[in-house]
Formats: sequence, structure tokens, C-alpha cells
Amino acid sequence: MTYLFISDLHLSPDHPRLVRGFLDLLTAYENQQTQLYILGDWFNAWIGDDYTAPWLDEIVDRLKQFTAAGNQIFFLAGNRDFVLGQNFLHQFSGQLLADVHNLEIGSIRYRIEHGDALCTDDISYQRFRKVIRNPLLLALLRKTPLSFRMKLAHGFRKKSQESQQFKTYEVMDVNASAVDSALQEVEVLIHGHTHRAAIHRLGHKKRIVLGDWKLDHAEILEIQPEQNIESLKLKKWQY
Ligand code: MN
Repeated sequence: MTYLFISDLHLSPDHPRLVRGFLDLLTAYENQQTQLYILGDWFNAWIGDDYTAPWLDEIVDRLKQFTAAGNQIFFLAGNRDFVLGQNFLHQFSGQLLADVHNLEIGSIRYRIEHGDALCTDDISYQRFRKVIRNPLLLALLRKTPLSFRMKLAHGFRKKSQESQQFKTYEVMDVNASAVDSALQEVEVLIHGHTHRAAIHRLGHKKRIVLGDWKLDHAEILEIQPEQNIESLKLKKWQY
């Protein structure tokens, strides 16, 4: 069994190379009894499970093949694709996880999450997150036409890009005490979101930050059950 962790692929029809990188990853791990964990921002934007497009159909077909070969797919929400739900995942027997998920591999306990909730110094973003992820609001939004949601998503992206220009590097990173409490029950925290791929040591524990998918490579994490904490390393996936 191989456990594979990726995040921040930001797949979209505008960057076919990233899509190919993802499809190639599925091929590479198809015969390894893989549990693939996607830690959010899988897609650059997600306006609803009722959205369909040829570029997405190709991905879904490959995902079906991947799970039919005995592999599993787990997804937890990012800040760009938190609307993605079980309806989409159902097509290829994928499973939606809670925003924070704990798992045990070998004798090590892991906590996985996207990472945006750990950036508690970014107060305006946390306020926005609380509003936009309100289940009632989301239920209402789901009833609006796709074209409206597409415009809305575009507006949010623009607004977020603008506001990021005025935020410091520190404010947009994780908060140390948020990390401490996230690590309380586990030995290893795995997240993405910040686009600062690294492995941080905190005493005998570790915080592993997955990378965002760049033009031709991404930092991903592969774990085998017999591994100890010391041997955990990021892996460069090239495409
Ligand atoms: Mn993110």
C-alpha cells in the first residue's frame, strides 16, 4: 500500500500541462494499491458539481480507471474548491473527507487539512472564510444558475488577488500556535495552501507543507506504512 498526498494543483482548462501532470501521476501510481489524498485546491475554481466540460470529462474517465484498478481517492476542501462535493466524487468512487482528517499509517498519527484555517493572522481572510463557508449560504448559491456562479467565482478571485498585494509574507503563512494545537493529537501535520513546500521539525514532530503545482513540477509526499518520522521526505514530481 502506498499513501500519496498532493495539494494545490489548481487544475483548469487554461493549463493543460498541469492536467497532464496529474493524469501522468495517476498512471504512475495505478498499480501500487495507492490511497491518494488530495488536500484541496485540486481545481483552480469549482462552481458546483453540476459543472461539466470536455477537459473535466477526461479527468473523470482517468479517475474511474484509477479506482477500478483498486486504488482509492480521498478529497478534502481547499479555499478554491470547497464547493466540490460527494456528487462529483461519486462518479469515480472518491470520498469526501471533513476539512480536518486524522489517519494512522504504520504507527504514526497524521492530521491532514488544506491549511487556510491555520493562517489565523490573516484576519480579513478568516472573516471571509466564515461567511462564504456558511452551509445556508452555500445551499442558496447551489440553486443559482451556473453562469451566475461563474461570474461570482471570477469576482472573488480578483478581489483575493488584489487584497493579497497588501498583505505581508508573514500574515499569509500559518500561525505558530494554530500549528501547535493542530499537532496536539498527532505526530505529523500535512497541509498545503501556503505554496511554501518544506518539512518543518517541531521537537519530535513534523509539519509537512506540500507544494503547489508549478509549470513542470510539484512537491508531493509519498508514505509507505513501514516508514518512520525521520525518513519522511518530499518528492519532486516532474511532468
Ligand atoms: Mn489554497
